[in-house]
Amino acid sequence: MTAQSLIELSKRTYEIVPQKPPVDPARLEYKNFKDTPDWRRIPAYADVTEEQFLDHRWQSKKSITRPDKLLEALRDLVSEEFIKDATEGFARAPMSVRVSPYLLSLIDWTDPYRDPLRTQFIPLGSRFLPDHPKLGLDSLHERADAPVPGLTHRYTDKALFLPLDTCPVYCRFCTRSYAVGIDTEEVEKTHFKVDEERWRAAYTYIASRPELEDIVVSGGDAYNLRPEQLRSIGETLLGMPNIRRIRLATKGPAVMPQKILTDDEWIDAVTYISDLGRKLHKEVAVHTHFNNPNEITGITRDAMQKLFGRGIRVRNQSVLIRGVNDDPETMKLLVKRLGHLNVQPYYVYVHDLVKGAEDLRTTVATGELIEKHVRGSTAGFNTPTFVVDAPGGGGKRDVHSYEFYDRVTGISVFESPSVKPGQKYLYFDPIDRLPDEGRARWADPREHQVMIDEAMRAVS
Ligand SMILES: *Cc1c(COP(=O)(O)O)cnc(C)c1O
Ligand code: SF4
Repeated sequence: MTAQSLIELSKRTYEIVPQKPPVDPARLEYKNFKDTPDWRRIPAYADVTEEQFLDHRWQSKKSITRPDKLLEALRDLVSEEFIKDATEGFARAPMSVRVSPYLLSLIDWTDPYRDPLRTQFIPLGSRFLPDHPKLGLDSLHERADAPVPGLTHRYTDKALFLPLDTCPVYCRFCTRSYAVGIDTEEVEKTHFKVDEERWRAAYTYIASRPELEDIVVSGGDAYNLRPEQLRSIGETLLGMPNIRRIRLATKGPAVMPQKILTDDEWIDAVTYISDLGRKLHKEVAVHTHFNNPNEITGITRDAMQKLFGRGIRVRNQSVLIRGVNDDPETMKLLVKRLGHLNVQPYYVYVHDLVKGAEDLRTTVATGELIEKHVRGSTAGFNTPTFVVDAPGGGGKRDVHSYEFYDRVTGISVFESPSVKPGQKYLYFDPIDRLPDEGRARWADPREHQVMIDEAMRAVS
């Protein structure tokens, strides 16, 4: 039967009764991303050729690692007021700086105060909020659950291995600001340098634990591992009979997708590990970290297609960040755009309690609200789980699963029976987002313990 006669037949048998009009393709915004960013708008890159811009070596070499150099590159693009504001921001921030020309070219410099990429990487003095009184460095107690420096074994069957402490970018909101990057005026860090002896100690521990099946290789960032280091980590871990899964965590695809397209040795090393895993019937995945739909361009698409073509599974973990993705429309767009590129949205983390980043945090209620909008907008397997990584080492908890939540004091209480049975974990919403009554109570130090006692009583 020809297609035409089939249509004729179906016309006779069925009448199509549209229940809703087709969507105007112009409204499928997730498909309409920038093909290539316009780097020539930035005076420092006005003469840069496309070939240079698409080359990871040029991007790495030209990445800016000093605040004064960064501000110098922006001088003709932004107001004097903005430069002063950012200078003050860097002086107060406990973070290292590294931004690629690619990242700078994605920022809307006509409106830098509101740009979601600027917000993530360039601190501003005028936006600073005092840290929450209950905040501490390493709020997740990664070091407390570490049998070997740089190896956190918190959950029974999986562990986090930090082979190095550098990243292709430094994020203001980094949970691991206790370790990554160089020492800053504010913080002296615990360093996890590439150190084969330390790696060997981690391997010995991992091999000695039959219950460990799953290793997250993070850092720092796997983008900064040399190809032979990647291969050696992959071979060692996949060679252990107890290990069934490994993940390579990297923010690289979001900040320098060029590397996937032009660093053949590096991408071949990732492919080698992935293929080796498949041969051994073990799963190897790349976990990346996009936070805003503007971080996705035609270069990202090409890079993700290359990974997909090589059979490499990519998942994404986002952080819920104020002014970056803390509204339903932006998060839905990010999730749809990632799914479109075969990147599976895995987690959205409610922002950890991180020093110097209070202006970036949102409330647990915001997480719940956005989750409600995202679920149903696309495939269930492309719908991220919204989690709170319970401060104090309770592990990741579904944002909806609190035992108690007071939206006035912003205190939520979580339990984590399969990680630390019997214990309670507290999360604290940012104070400036609380109603007047909550803000007034936090302004009075005598009230702090009273509020915590109230929350603990409610769950006992
Ligand atoms: C997040 C994390 C893992 C991995 O947890 P998943 O929920 O499987 O992604 C493992 N160890 C530590 C310490 C972690 O923080
Ligand atoms: S890339 Fe990851 S580990 Fe590195 S600074 Fe950013 S959030 Fe932290």
